[in-house]
Amino acid sequence: MKILVTGGAGYVGSHCVRLLKSKGHDVWVYDNLLYGHREATDPARLIVGDLLDQPAIEKAMRDHAIEAVMHFAALCYVGESVTDPAKYYRNNVVGTLNLLDAMRACGVGKIVFSSTCATYGVPQQVPIPEDHPQNPISPYGFTKLAVEKALEDYRAAYGIGYAAPRYFNASGASLDGSIGEDHDPETHLIPLVLDVALGKRDHISIFGTDYPTPDGTCIRDYIHVEDLATAHLAAIEKVQPGEAIRVNLGTGVGASVRQVITACEEVTGKKIKTVEGPRRAGDPPELVANPQGALDALGWRAQHTSVKETVASAWAWHKAHPNGYAG
Ligand code: UDP
Repeated sequence: MKILVTGGAGYVGSHCVRLLKSKGHDVWVYDNLLYGHREATDPARLIVGDLLDQPAIEKAMRDHAIEAVMHFAALCYVGESVTDPAKYYRNNVVGTLNLLDAMRACGVGKIVFSSTCATYGVPQQVPIPEDHPQNPISPYGFTKLAVEKALEDYRAAYGIGYAAPRYFNASGASLDGSIGEDHDPETHLIPLVLDVALGKRDHISIFGTDYPTPDGTCIRDYIHVEDLATAHLAAIEKVQPGEAIRVNLGTGVGASVRQVITACEEVTGKKIKTVEGPRRAGDPPELVANPQGALDALGWRAQHTSVKETVASAWAWHKAHPNGYAG
């Protein structure tokens, strides 16, 4: 299949691109390189472009006879989405509408869109099934939900098929250590703890120790980025024009902040200094996927279910690339 991958130079996108290519798909990356890394993808297959430029998207689709789209390109900092929502609505919602309208103009019939468990807001039930109410608590979550709604309306009216995998906590790195997570700024727990192990940071702050969980810290479902890639491959191959697939992508197993830190200590052999601090606004106590829906819809389940294993792959990347792609 000829696939256009927006955000293919980013963290999850770059891992998916590699898998798609290894399975024989003809892949083109469309990325504005604002947060993506040229080094994370094949420069000969990279189109530097922005989603706010619809004619450029259409040109890319026509030039390469694109048949399907994988759409990763989005802004993803929850805190920033609160202080600068305009930036998030414009890039995540307007940008995606441009992409969908380019698909209509070029006759591209299917898309896999990166959605998120942040669309559920504070869960009433854990593990979370796909039919759980979606009440986001951040502008970021609302932008992703708005796109899910647009996808459904575009499917019904124009016949575009879509899969909307809702990621839990994307983590880890390619098992050969060649590509991995490199965010600037970095806000995610595992890379920050590994920065402490590398001596780049003095300590990790634990955001809240009074949650109603066994050790008082938040529980998350850390899903390996290579498992996300296999789910996307299954989704793009399965979904047909006019169809909809909405699935959670998680392991079904949660780990607390303290458990993640312990796993990092075991993997790195370093003692991690922690500082207990207040809760971070907008953090639900527990977010864990019910993974049954993805098994039913895609025949997919996570292969990496141990957080220690996921941390080990992240550590291989961080140790080899202490400054990320900057060398
Ligand atoms: N967290 C923390 N200290 C940090 C960063 C994150 O205690 O410096 C906690 C955060 O409150 C959450 C969990 O680690 O409970 C995972 O956070 P992350 O930002 O990695 O992902 P999120 O769940 O926000 O998508």
